[in-house]
Amino acid sequence: MEYIAVRFIDGTAKEYPKGVLLKNLLRESASGPMGNEVVSAKVDGVLIDLQAPLENGGTLEWVTLNTGEGTEVLRHSTSHVMAQAVQSLFPEAKITIGPAIKDGFYYDFDLDRSFSPEDFSRIEAKMKEIVERDLPIVRRSVSREEARQLFAERGENYKIELIEGLPDNEVTLYQQGEFLDLCRGPHVASTGMIKAFKLTSVAGAYWHGDERNKMLQRIYGTAFPSSENLKKHILRLEEARRRDHRKLGRELDLFSINEEAGAGLVIYHPKGALLRMLLEDFEKREHLKRGYQLVMGPQILKTDLWKRSGHFEHYRDKMYFTEIEGQGYGIKPMNCLSHMLIYKSKIRSYRDLPLRYFELGTVHRHEKSGELHGLLRVRGFTQDDAHILCTPEQLNGEIKGILNLVRDVMSVFSFPYDLEISTRPEKGTIGSNEDWEKATQALRSALEENSLPYQINKGEGAFYGPKIDVKLKDALEREWQCATIQVDFAMPERFELSYIGPDGEKHRPVMVHRVILGAMERFIGVLIEHFAGAFPTWLAPVQVILLNVTDPQIPYAEGVYQKLTAAGIRAEKDLRNEKLGLKIREAELQKIPYMLVLGDREVEQNLVTPRARTGKSMKSMELEEFIRMVKKESAIGGESYS
Ligand SMILES: [Zn+2]
Ligand SMILES: [Zn+2]
Repeated sequence: MEYIAVRFIDGTAKEYPKGVLLKNLLRESASGPMGNEVVSAKVDGVLIDLQAPLENGGTLEWVTLNTGEGTEVLRHSTSHVMAQAVQSLFPEAKITIGPAIKDGFYYDFDLDRSFSPEDFSRIEAKMKEIVERDLPIVRRSVSREEARQLFAERGENYKIELIEGLPDNEVTLYQQGEFLDLCRGPHVASTGMIKAFKLTSVAGAYWHGDERNKMLQRIYGTAFPSSENLKKHILRLEEARRRDHRKLGRELDLFSINEEAGAGLVIYHPKGALLRMLLEDFEKREHLKRGYQLVMGPQILKTDLWKRSGHFEHYRDKMYFTEIEGQGYGIKPMNCLSHMLIYKSKIRSYRDLPLRYFELGTVHRHEKSGELHGLLRVRGFTQDDAHILCTPEQLNGEIKGILNLVRDVMSVFSFPYDLEISTRPEKGTIGSNEDWEKATQALRSALEENSLPYQINKGEGAFYGPKIDVKLKDALEREWQCATIQVDFAMPERFELSYIGPDGEKHRPVMVHRVILGAMERFIGVLIEHFAGAFPTWLAPVQVILLNVTDPQIPYAEGVYQKLTAAGIRAEKDLRNEKLGLKIREAELQKIPYMLVLGDREVEQNLVTPRARTGKSMKSMELEEFIRMVKKESAIGGESYS
């Protein structure tokens, strides 16, 4: 008999006969309450079903229900239970695929009838029945031909198509009761292990994601190890819906995305444009303070230049092209090229470096229409982009400087964040191994010298270099990728950038591409959801609204309005002949930081009585005092942004 060596995570090791079933191995190694929680195992990092035979040795780690991977196994199993329920209620429904995804699972069905949320309660009730029957979820390994026949008998033509696309001669099937699925697994041992689940939404999805194929019905759901966690998740979903930036963007009249203009193209309305201007002004000042220079480049550049930079070869699919007088041009998807041309416009000495070019650069990228999402995924957007050109010796200091800028900017919005280094992708990159190694090391050491913890994202770098990604966490603890810092040795090479060193010789500068907020559109989307539309005073497009009680206060209100705007405060007035309660309610919905309700008393005493958007009334005060208060609140880093 052949033996394999298994090392356990606690350091112990043992030999087992080749082909031992993991569940038998579990019985002897992790008995007791721990054993009941185990839903799968990882061998050298790969998830394996407990019913599977162990063919190769390695480091073995049991996966329990309460871990991220355990929950994923649970969700995948719940998707099978949902498919079983759907087929028992709608026998004509054909099954396709049903994986676990972030925060839940889905299953795609082919059915000539749309599911409605009303169907959900019926499907959920059926799922509950299946869970109560506690059906064993049985794994089987069969030949492709046998699998093909089994699914042919059931008329599951999508499964047959999937089997035909598989490279192996053996495939695995999972069965619970009458339900059979083609699946790699792993799964929990029985349907009874599924405790807390909920179906969340339904959407159309094309088979294989290809719009030339048939439209399928995708039902989304989620599952958790405990009903308490499920409840928390549902509350979070409701809160996210309440804060949805598309809904708030409409209600607060910030922006629109108009099918007539085109998908993924943002139109800023006056208040949205003002919000963006405030953000951009803030950014310009922060950059000027730190030795960046503002530059601007054209929207289109010759295709030949995109070929030289490598964008044409590596990024063409996401670019738009046009032609002028027979000459090809590419609409810029990135801002790097003009910045390099600025560098090249003069002979540079080491004394000139570092050079930090900053541009609020608008770019266009062809994102698939199915992936567009409000402001978060668009086709035209503006980046707070900069390119730093420096000597190799200056690189470390420059990266630290950028990390400090990230820290300072994120603290203004009170965003906590995590840092990740993305390394060289497997294919499609430019530059030598040695350069990639050097660049990756430069990023690592800058983080380590600043005592910043980070994670490694293997193979997730850009085509021209490794990067640091900054992932901020919003008020709902969701992660958003915004800032990135990318080191690039390749582009200076391609463009033959040089500087004269102290030795009088030509040297190659290093280039750093970096953004802090990332795309302004996306960042504004995140801000809207983070603040639920109630922007801090410095960023609120309207800071104060004046409400009169009756018509006689109109002249006083006009006077107050003029003084506020003269003081640089962004004010609006609602002097309509409407009930005060209605005007207050509307101002609250607009999430304006302050209301000034002006009645006879205010006019007589020449005062204002502020009311915060939280509903809190403040004491009456002189207008000058109120102006000072708002200005103080609008100050960031000693500068006023009101
Ligand atoms: Zn499956
Ligand atoms: Zn760039």
